Amino acid sequence: MEAAVIVEERNFIACLECGKHRFSIPVLDFKSTIHFCIECGSGYAIHRECGVVWIDKTEQFGHRSLVFLKYENMVLVVEGSVINGNVDDDEAFYNLQLCPTTYFKAAIAVIDVQDRDADPHGIFEHITTVVLTPEDYAIFEAEELDIEQVEKVTGLQFDEM
Ligand SMILES: [Zn+2]
Repeated sequence: MEAAVIVEERNFIACLECGKHRFSIPVLDFKSTIHFCIECGSGYAIHRECGVVWIDKTEQFGHRSLVFLKYENMVLVVEGSVINGNVDDDEAFYNLQLCPTTYFKAAIAVIDVQDRDADPHGIFEHITTVVLTPEDYAIFEAEELDIEQVEKVTGLQFDEM
């Protein structure tokens, strides 16, 4: 049986500052939200109205970050984002506000069986938030995580925790 080939068209806008990152643009109209270039951090308000795409540079900068959370002798590293270099709120956000199911992609629920709590925030203790360059970030996307390299780019010393 011959298979029908489906051709899918995708639309992008390149970052106005660095041109490296491409923002995916939906086919249908959408309202403005802030998007950040993962290469240079430039922030843009992008929206589509009556088929025309608009992009406006904002004063905000956003960078991908790695957030280090600790539970006993385990350190969980999760992806975060830092807006305008502000990491001051991360400790309270990760220790008190963020639902732990957010950390685990396949998690449906986290249950504290001792306290019979189906929403136990603050399981992991926030250690630090680190903003990395795209090059340093690649260390975490490698097939095997090199702990010495992680310590080098983050300034953390796991032996001292
Ligand atoms: Zn950029």
